[in-house]
Amino acid sequence: MAAQGVTPRSEDYSRWYTDVVRMADLAENAPVRGCMIIKPYGYELWENIKSALDSRFKATGHRNAYFPLFIPMSFINKEAEHVEGFTPELAVVTHGGGKELEEPLAVRPTSETVIGHAFADWIQSYRDLPLLINQWANVVRWELRPRLFLRTTEFLWQEGHTAHATQDEAIEETLRMLDVYADMAINECAIPVIKGVKSQQEKFAGAVDSYSIEAMMGNTWALQSGTSHFLGENFAKAFDIKYLAEDNTQQYAWTTSWGVSTRMVGGVIMAHGDDKGLRLPPRIAPYQVVITPIWKTDEDRDTVFAFAMQVEDELRKVDVRYHLDERDGLSPGFKFNDWEMRGVPIRLEIGPRDVDAASVMLSRRDIPGRDGKMPLPIDNLADKVNGLLDDVQAALLRQATEYRDAHLFEASTYDELKEQVADGWSLIWHCGTRECEDRIKEETKASSRCFPLEDNSEWHPQGATCAVCGKPAYGKAYFGRAY
Ligand SMILES: [Zn+2]
Repeated sequence: MAAQGVTPRSEDYSRWYTDVVRMADLAENAPVRGCMIIKPYGYELWENIKSALDSRFKATGHRNAYFPLFIPMSFINKEAEHVEGFTPELAVVTHGGGKELEEPLAVRPTSETVIGHAFADWIQSYRDLPLLINQWANVVRWELRPRLFLRTTEFLWQEGHTAHATQDEAIEETLRMLDVYADMAINECAIPVIKGVKSQQEKFAGAVDSYSIEAMMGNTWALQSGTSHFLGENFAKAFDIKYLAEDNTQQYAWTTSWGVSTRMVGGVIMAHGDDKGLRLPPRIAPYQVVITPIWKTDEDRDTVFAFAMQVEDELRKVDVRYHLDERDGLSPGFKFNDWEMRGVPIRLEIGPRDVDAASVMLSRRDIPGRDGKMPLPIDNLADKVNGLLDDVQAALLRQATEYRDAHLFEASTYDELKEQVADGWSLIWHCGTRECEDRIKEETKASSRCFPLEDNSEWHPQGATCAVCGKPAYGKAYFGRAY
C-alpha cells in the first residue's frame, strides 16, 4: 500500500477538496444522490464543533428541545415568502402506511413553521417571554448540485428559535447569536469570519433581515458559514403567536431563528487545508496528538510501546485527545503521511533511539519539514504539548487571517470590482437591489456576500451612491465568488 497524495490545490481546487474529504476519511457519497455518509473521523470533527456551539447556547440561556421531522404542507404554506423560497427544495411525503395521506407532509427544510405552531400554544403572557429554544436535527433541502459537506440534500445542523416581547429584544438576540457564531468560528475553528447583513434578495425566506458570518476559503471563495435571522412579526402573524402584555393588551411576539450546519466542516477543510491534506485546529481536532511508534524488530517493538505508554500517561494528565497508532505492517513514512492527511496538529514519533534519550520527536502539522520538528524530553511533556497545541491553534488563525486580509479589496468603480473579484472579495458602495446584484453576478460570477457591520456605521448614508448603477447606496457590501 503506497501513500498517495491529493491533487495539488493550484492544479484543481475542487478535486483537491474531494480528495481530502475521501483520503482523510471524513465522508462519502450515499446511494441516494446528494446524501452523504459521514464517517467516524468526520463525525467526531462535527461533534466537537457541535459541543463548542451547544455550550455557548446554554451559556446564553437557551434550552434544547426536539420537534418532528414531518411538517403538514398547510404549515409551510402559511407564510408567503417562506413557501415561495422553500417549495423548490422540498421533499414531500404523500403516502404513509400504504395509503395516500389526506394531507401531504413536508420533510422539514427548517422548522420555523412547526415550532411557530408550538410557540403559539406555549406563549400566553409576557411572563412566558423570552422563549429561547434550540434544536439539533437533520433537515432536507433537495440539492441539484451536491458537494460533500457544502451542499447536501440532507444535512445536520442546529436551529435556534426564539420569541420576544419587543422588536428591540429580538434584534438584540439576532445579533447576540451572530456574535456567538463568530466567536465559535474564530476561537474554535480558527476561521476569521466577517459579520454582516445579507441583501434583501440573499436573505432567508420569511425574514425581515438575515445576518451571516462569511468565511474565506483557500481559493478566496466565500462560504456563508452561519446565519441569524430577525423574523419580525412575520411568523408570529402566520402562526398566531400572541401574548398578553403587562398593559392587558394582546400583542404579537417578535421571533428570531439562527443556524449552523455540517457545512462548517467543509469550511474548516478549505480554510486550513494544504497540499498534504487537512490541517485541523487543535480545539476541534478529533485527535490533537497522535503517537507513532517506530520499530523494526520485536524487541524494539516492546521497548517503544512501553515508552509510548509512559507518554500516554503524561498526556492523560492534561486531558489531551490523543491516539496511539498501533497499526502493524505499514512504513513510518506511510503513517506520517496518513496523519498529515488527517490534519492531526501534533505528531509524536517514538523510535528506539528516542527511548534511549528519554524523549520523543515532535512534529507540528502547521510547520512543514524540519522547522516543525523538535525533540521533546518526557519530563514535563504534557505541559509542553498543551502549550504547543495553543500555538498551533493561534498559528492557524493567524495564517487564515493573513491570507484573508491579503485578498480583501475595496473598489470605487465597477471596473475595479471586476478585477478584484478574480482574486478575492471586493468592498463597494452598493444599492442592494436585485437587478444590480443579478447584473454583477452575471458579468463577474461574484455574488453579494454581506454588508459588513464593521464597515458600515449607518444604512442609506446621505449622498452615497451605488458604484455600479448610481442609485442611492444601502451601504458598503462585499462581493465575491461563493460556494
Ligand atoms: Zn446598484
